[in-house]
Amino acid sequence: MGDGKEVYKQTLQRFIGLYCRKKHLSKQGLCPDCQDLLQYAVQRTDACRQDPKPPCKFCPIHCYAPSYRQKIRQVMRYSGLYMILHGRLDWLVKYLLAR
Ligand SMILES: [Zn+2]
Repeated sequence: MGDGKEVYKQTLQRFIGLYCRKKHLSKQGLCPDCQDLLQYAVQRTDACRQDPKPPCKFCPIHCYAPSYRQKIRQVMRYSGLYMILHGRLDWLVKYLLAR
């Protein structure tokens, strides 16, 4: 099981990193907001008791607090669209298949 979570966390990092670079124009690393969001998302992933972990999108539990849930959805929509437009479907597929 550990493996899937690692892939998922890497993907989160990738999506949030892209969003922050494009939306917040961060040059290095993440802005404090996105850093906070990533940390939260990683924590939730580690704390997930579903085994195997379903993609968060399809999870019946929805463990994210509403404010973070909204933020992460924004990030995923923005970065997902960016990846489609720039031919990075491999990352999108990874996200959708990540457990
Ligand atoms: Zn940011």
